[in-house]
Amino acid sequence: MTSLNFPKTGHSSDSILLFPTSRFQSKPFLPSSRGYRYSSGLIVRTQTLIYASSLSNGRTNIKRPREIQFVAKAQPVAVELVEDKLRDTQTSGDAIRQRFLDFYAARGHKVLPSASLVPDDPTVLLTIAGMLQFKPIFLGKVPREVPSAATSQKCIRTNDIENVGRTSRHQTFFEMLGNFSFGDYFKKEAIKWAWELSTSEYGLPADRLWISVYEDDDETFALWHDELGIPKERIKRLGEDDNFWTSGVTGPCGPCSELYYDFHPERGTSDVDLGDDSRFIEFYNLVFMQYNKKDDGSLEPLKQKNIDTGLGLERIARILQKVPNNYETDLIFPIIEKAAELANVSYALADDSTKTKLKIIGDHIRAVVYLISDGVNPSNIGRGYVVRRLIRRVVRTGRLLGVKGDGMGDLQGAFLPILAKKVIELSTNIDADVKTRSSRILEELRREELRFVLTLERGEKLLEQMLADALLNTQGTETAPCLSGKDAFILYDTYGFPVEITKEVAEERGISIDMNSFDIEMEKQRQLSQAAHDTVKLAVENGANLAEDIPDTEFLGYNTLHSKAVVEGLLVNGSPVAQVSKGSEVEILLNRTPFYAESGGQIGDNGFLYMAEAENEQKAIVEIKDVQKSMGNIFVHKGTITEGTIEVGREVEAAVDANLRQRAKVLCCIM
Ligand code: ATP
Ligand code: MG
Repeated sequence: MTSLNFPKTGHSSDSILLFPTSRFQSKPFLPSSRGYRYSSGLIVRTQTLIYASSLSNGRTNIKRPREIQFVAKAQPVAVELVEDKLRDTQTSGDAIRQRFLDFYAARGHKVLPSASLVPDDPTVLLTIAGMLQFKPIFLGKVPREVPSAATSQKCIRTNDIENVGRTSRHQTFFEMLGNFSFGDYFKKEAIKWAWELSTSEYGLPADRLWISVYEDDDETFALWHDELGIPKERIKRLGEDDNFWTSGVTGPCGPCSELYYDFHPERGTSDVDLGDDSRFIEFYNLVFMQYNKKDDGSLEPLKQKNIDTGLGLERIARILQKVPNNYETDLIFPIIEKAAELANVSYALADDSTKTKLKIIGDHIRAVVYLISDGVNPSNIGRGYVVRRLIRRVVRTGRLLGVKGDGMGDLQGAFLPILAKKVIELSTNIDADVKTRSSRILEELRREELRFVLTLERGEKLLEQMLADALLNTQGTETAPCLSGKDAFILYDTYGFPVEITKEVAEERGISIDMNSFDIEMEKQRQLSQAAHDTVKLAVENGANLAEDIPDTEFLGYNTLHSKAVVEGLLVNGSPVAQVSKGSEVEILLNRTPFYAESGGQIGDNGFLYMAEAENEQKAIVEIKDVQKSMGNIFVHKGTITEGTIEVGREVEAAVDANLRQRAKVLCCIM
């Protein structure tokens, strides 16, 4: 055990440590054991009680910090903690990415940029893998421009959202490194290079690597075993679900082979389950596109065989940086540290539940920054809804940790932009465009967060009222005060109020929550929103041509109940018309609207549209009875003309019925 060799500061003690000022002001704070750069701080002298040990991986670990004593308050100083200096520059996330691309460039691959998170492919909402930008080539729809390529692709996988922070290996946002062959090289080279990259380039010990192959793929088994000498017991044959890739019911398909890293070789080679997260991590998947699946289900060999691979950057970084999970790699951890700082907690000392929350924040804020950068703004449908859910989850998770923004400064209390700045700072080698878009990203986040917080705060007031009622109802009786599940559900569903918070606040006042009935309400709502989703049918579908020419409706409903708008289109019985007169049922498309549309469990607003002929004279009135969304983000206002004639291209005054708005539920995430 040696003591830390801290930077010279003018103090004679060699046990001087730097703390971020803000943290120290509220309570003595111990640095995380994975120290990153602190740019400002207080100098404190420890009473020789901070120990460090050099680990086998060359890192330094701060151990057993105890009493600490102020010596002096210093000017902010830029300091790199010891660990930073010790970091092997070869294993930083940036270096690992570059080494991959260089490795394949040296083997004839054209290095191409990451495609947008918004794919050209209409069959998927977001880019989920590196191969997506090459799918048309693989499907033979467009000719290849180069024989082989390598990329580092930004990916979003919302289906992994429940795994975030809970498994050590899943994020919603990650980078997938990939090498691709378009009818050029095939299995033999793909396998050899994957092995060489893992062992020679990245230096992973060969005896820590396990392989999976498709159960019938003897050729691949032989390549791993005969050509590369991997012992048979470390090659597992897996079934179709795990190791056979198809692009659809018919079309190109083929077996896969995966590389796994073994964290616990001492556990031996019998009864091994490669899916055991505590022992293995899958980091590289090789897909061999070699068949065409025909209508009758039979497989015919493809003339042009392709290779598609995916290697998770954060996973390989986690292995090489010898940290317990993807989140503690230098690709994500600085964001988590920032979140911990805002929450005034130490990640290193935090309990598991706090760590999970910090990981969720770290992951989701990363995802939304890259999504907004690629043009996906929060909304209630499609990709926009993904962004909205992720943002709301960060805000709610942050609130559970007591994270708040900058009071009423520039950000008016928002904290997402503070975290987003950290994401943007780290974005240079992931997507150079993010920095140039930073002001738009930060503003979008600030606005969305504040909007959501307003709703949450209205919920807080309502909760106060509900708790007071619960106490009043049981006053002077033997009954223990209890908040009904229905009330807790209203807070959750209408005001986006996390039930954990409701519970915590209620319990502080000695009030319990009927969680059973809350769960029943949740289930009812899930079924309802599913049903609403299944039955929405819009007459406007017949007017698809019209709708195609109409841009998304600008939604103003968070801030106002009325606004001026221009009539972009009119439909009667689904057919576009130029004008409609008194007595007709009509569907109206506006350029902007204060009306909420029906979505999920939320019902559309009611209200009126007024069109004036001349100043102060009302020419037409439309009573709006329902609003739905269609064709992406176009709001369709359904109603009856009760007076006059309404025309396309004219300006109207749109007014939401404020009383009925009470009924309109603010859509909140069902997570
Ligand atoms: P897992 O079973 O661990 O979820 P997967 O089979 O879904 O992985 P692939 O679809 O084969 O993964 O993706 C290729 C590679 O991308 C994986 O080997 C992994 O390294 C990485 N990857 C996939 N999903 C994630 C994720 N959610 N977070 C981080 N990396 C991922
Ligand atoms: Mg997966």
